[in-house]
Amino acid sequence: MLDNAAIRAQFPILAQTENGHPLVYLDSAATAQKPLRVIEALDRYYREQNANVHRGVYGLSERATDLYEGARGAMGAFLNAATPLEIIFVRGATEGINLVASTLGKLLKPGDEILISAMEHHSNIVPWQFLRDERGIRLRVIPMDERGVLDMDAFRKLLSERTRLVAVTHMSNALGTINPVREIVDAAKAVGALTLIDGAQAVPHMPVDVQALGCDFYVLSGHKMYGPTGIGVLYGRMEVLETLPPYQGGGDMIRSVTFKKTEFNVLPYRFEAGTPHIAGAIGLAEAARWMEAVGRQAIFDYEHELLQYATEQLQAIDGLRLIGTAPEKGGVLSFVIEGAHPHDVATLIDQDGIAVRASHHCAQPVMDFFGVPATVRASLGVYNNREDIDRLVAALNDALEMLR
Ligand code: PLP
Repeated sequence: MLDNAAIRAQFPILAQTENGHPLVYLDSAATAQKPLRVIEALDRYYREQNANVHRGVYGLSERATDLYEGARGAMGAFLNAATPLEIIFVRGATEGINLVASTLGKLLKPGDEILISAMEHHSNIVPWQFLRDERGIRLRVIPMDERGVLDMDAFRKLLSERTRLVAVTHMSNALGTINPVREIVDAAKAVGALTLIDGAQAVPHMPVDVQALGCDFYVLSGHKMYGPTGIGVLYGRMEVLETLPPYQGGGDMIRSVTFKKTEFNVLPYRFEAGTPHIAGAIGLAEAARWMEAVGRQAIFDYEHELLQYATEQLQAIDGLRLIGTAPEKGGVLSFVIEGAHPHDVATLIDQDGIAVRASHHCAQPVMDFFGVPATVRASLGVYNNREDIDRLVAALNDALEMLR
């Protein structure tokens, strides 16, 4: 059993008050709070270990390089990559997807098809639209039903020998739906298509094994999995990464440069031009170790139970409609309430110290599908507990009294 009180004690920010009330943080889908272990790793790096990597022959630089490459190893193990060389450090899920779009994109031809789903975050829509407009590829969308469950029959019908890539989210940030990623990958492989899984939301909440999934690419954002902002991972299967042209040009991604000709470096450095976010990578690896220490299955089980409790409590509120009711769901509660604008609701409950998001959650097509401009979204982290949910519900009831 997971010890929620012991976990909460490791997050200094949770001891804070907000508008005179103890902070209830329910916006982990936007960014998670950071445990002391991660904060201390960042602090230690800048106090004691800072030097540029890969270039120095002096001890400090060698130690910084070891830490940075150690972080790559840790992230490889965290995702069960076949080798750490399949781990490319990027700014986050957004950059990971853009990296694939701009490199793989150069290999695509007019008429090639990319499949995405109806529940993607904008970061897994817009980069493919660029390719559609620049290279004449066709972008096709796997539909979902009114619960927010992907239509797998429609998906299979969309697959063809023209499909070059299937890019879908592992878990929806707006709905909470957990997609049957393994099944999606298997079906895509059967027609020879590559697969990219957006794991920005899934990774903080469940064990992820890229070899078991069989995907070609998997992206994550450090800040959503209790790590620092500005760092993330693009996992790419070695065989596929080797076929891709370079991404950005600059230092570290080259083996040799003359004004006539440049030879590119080996993987993964070929995709990491310039000084990387060294502290970020070290902090991210610490977050991964922290999650492993808590137990990733234990995190999933704990949050699943809390999600069920929260779902029951919210459904008891008069006029509340949950958006996203898939049977396979992670800790995201998106909802609208009759007669109350989501922004007003979120602003009012902030007065009670409750932090939730009210927006389109960078998933405007999802909002269009459900016919709402925005939702209120309470999203769970492993530090949340039933008391947080009770405070949310009480604050919502108070807000509704004022608004109605
Ligand atoms: N994909 C999903 C499902 C997300 O929820 C997010 C962020 O909310 C992203 C991608 C983009 O992540 P980032 O802004 O960290 O690059």
